[in-house]
Amino acid sequence: MSPNDPKLKSFVAVARDSHFPIQNLPYGVFTTPANYSPRIGVAIGDQVLDLSVLEQAGLLDLVPGERLFNRPTLNAFIERGRDTWMRARTAISDLLRQENARLRDDARLRARAFAPQSAAKMLLPLTIPGYTDFYSSKAHATNVGSMFRDSAHALLPNWLYVPIAYNGRASSIVVSGTPVLRPNGQTKRPDAQQPLFGSSQRLDFELEMAFVVGVGNALGEPISVGTALSHVFGMVLMNDWSARDIQQWEYIPLGPFNSKTFATSISPWIVTMDALEPFRIEGPVQNPAPLPYLETSGPQAYDIHLEASLAPPGKPAATISRTNFGTMYWNIAQQLAHHTVSGCNTRIGDLMGSGTISGASPDSCGSLLEITANGTRPLRLQDGTERKFLEDDDELILTGWAQGKDYRVGFGEVRGRIVAARSF
Ligand code: CA
Repeated sequence: MSPNDPKLKSFVAVARDSHFPIQNLPYGVFTTPANYSPRIGVAIGDQVLDLSVLEQAGLLDLVPGERLFNRPTLNAFIERGRDTWMRARTAISDLLRQENARLRDDARLRARAFAPQSAAKMLLPLTIPGYTDFYSSKAHATNVGSMFRDSAHALLPNWLYVPIAYNGRASSIVVSGTPVLRPNGQTKRPDAQQPLFGSSQRLDFELEMAFVVGVGNALGEPISVGTALSHVFGMVLMNDWSARDIQQWEYIPLGPFNSKTFATSISPWIVTMDALEPFRIEGPVQNPAPLPYLETSGPQAYDIHLEASLAPPGKPAATISRTNFGTMYWNIAQQLAHHTVSGCNTRIGDLMGSGTISGASPDSCGSLLEITANGTRPLRLQDGTERKFLEDDDELILTGWAQGKDYRVGFGEVRGRIVAARSF
């Protein structure tokens, strides 16, 4: 039976709306109060299955003599390659099946191998050598272009030919739950003569997904669009925090810098491309046809429902946007082929953001910039709270899942709370 078979059931209880059924098996790095040593686990229902325990017990011996899971990051496991990823997925799926007695009936091993997710502290699961952020939602690029320029020239002429991206800052990628410090920087109002220095007054989120490079390429050896997906290990949710006032002043001519460098949050569980395989769909029609090095065919998009919620201080979270990853104009294969076509190398653990994922209507937009039309149309929550941009102590939560028949392959969530800026 394939690990993706919808009929598979685990002996671990999995609620119908859980993000982590046996068909998912995402990888993360965690510690528990009983064991402060970071190690690798998979999420199943509301539990974490400790793969280092299974490995030590001889139930997950993927590379003889080599410990892959008693480690603080996933990089060594990912480095073993696709064949090892597949064998791990099959072995873990087998061990968790309802009808397999090996782990199910070994109470002592089970007690060591499982921890409730509520007791686990999740860590950044990867060493991330490089981070690139694309700009692949046509609706987002159009919305932002309309505000920063004018609606007649919203989409720049290169956008329909080039999967636009910039090199981001890997050092400030943080895991869900890490507080986000409001940045200080230079801003300049359009009517002002001089720029000012101070804390950003237009702090925003960006609802994105990101993929993790699992097989890198050498300098000078591009990845072809046809083989690009085999280089990808998995995906996470990503919040590309953005200071719009700093961005608007600094972004010409080289693109964003300090407006994006202060923090990028990712969800702790990496959902593998193998688990997402059943949810591939046709992406939007690409017109004009992409240049030959970017030509793809067949279902290259992924049907992943996404939501953003905002929790003002002391208030419950309210959903402020619902959208879908399947609407992205440029697909992952095209992004990776374009990234490397110059000869640029990529490395295991490199993170590639999708760009903000937006639809055409405000309630499907992945940033406050778009939802509030650059602060001109405040967002009103049910309890009457109004927001133009994020305020101190606001918490922003992203979640997302692919919906199967009677089960969900989900990403959990990525959350971050805004902390007041440092004073100078
Ligand atoms: Ca972005």
